[in-house]
Amino acid sequence: MSIAQEIHRIQQELATTSARLVVVTKTRSITELQETFAAGVVDFGENRVQEMVEKQAQLPSSIQWHQIGHLQTNKVKYIAPFVHLIHSVDSLKLLVEINQQAQKNKRIIPCLLQIYIAQEESKFGLNQKEVTQLIEDPIFMTLSHIRIVGLMGMASFTENVAQIKKEFQSLKSLFDDLKANRVGESTGLVQWEEISMGMSGDYLLAAELGSTLVRVGSAIFGPRG
Ligand SMILES: *Cc1c(COP(=O)(O)O)cnc(C)c1O
Repeated sequence: MSIAQEIHRIQQELATTSARLVVVTKTRSITELQETFAAGVVDFGENRVQEMVEKQAQLPSSIQWHQIGHLQTNKVKYIAPFVHLIHSVDSLKLLVEINQQAQKNKRIIPCLLQIYIAQEESKFGLNQKEVTQLIEDPIFMTLSHIRIVGLMGMASFTENVAQIKKEFQSLKSLFDDLKANRVGESTGLVQWEEISMGMSGDYLLAAELGSTLVRVGSAIFGPRG
């Protein structure tokens, strides 16, 4: 199947769920990204800053760029002029820098807090307590150029569907708690709207469990080289 056919197949699968497709274009060529755009997709996900910046300069300005990978503080300035949504915020220090660069660019940058849901040691993210601490920190309230619009999580790298399901459910349940208790909303800087979860192997499961943004690459383009 062509890139466009794969995209339309996945969009059809997601049509009865609340999830939207973010096409993960990391390592893919400009030609492949042009094909993706021609198929009607505007949400593109990249995990390396330099790659995103280079591609952004060569592609239509209507593309909405999602930063999905771990973001270093010293790289924020390169994506701040254009980034649509940062999925991978895992510290107050990073958020302070995003706020500063957003202000310089006269923008408000929407962000997701990355939550640690996997069993693996290596994955980045906050736990439930750290989310509350971050939002209740006095410094947080001063960050008028960011918005926290939801949560992001990465499941363990495993074939064990029950394990993945458990991890997605834990993210959804944290989200539901934060939303029900309107955590942080009085600051005007928080709106609980998005749950970014699900990749090529598990996007349908994630969508069924309440994901609003699935991040899919290899199911569209094939394995990364
Ligand atoms: C690479 C990546 C994806 C997409 O992975 P696929 O298995 O190719 O769908 C999703 N989320 C993050 C954070 C990634 O780095």
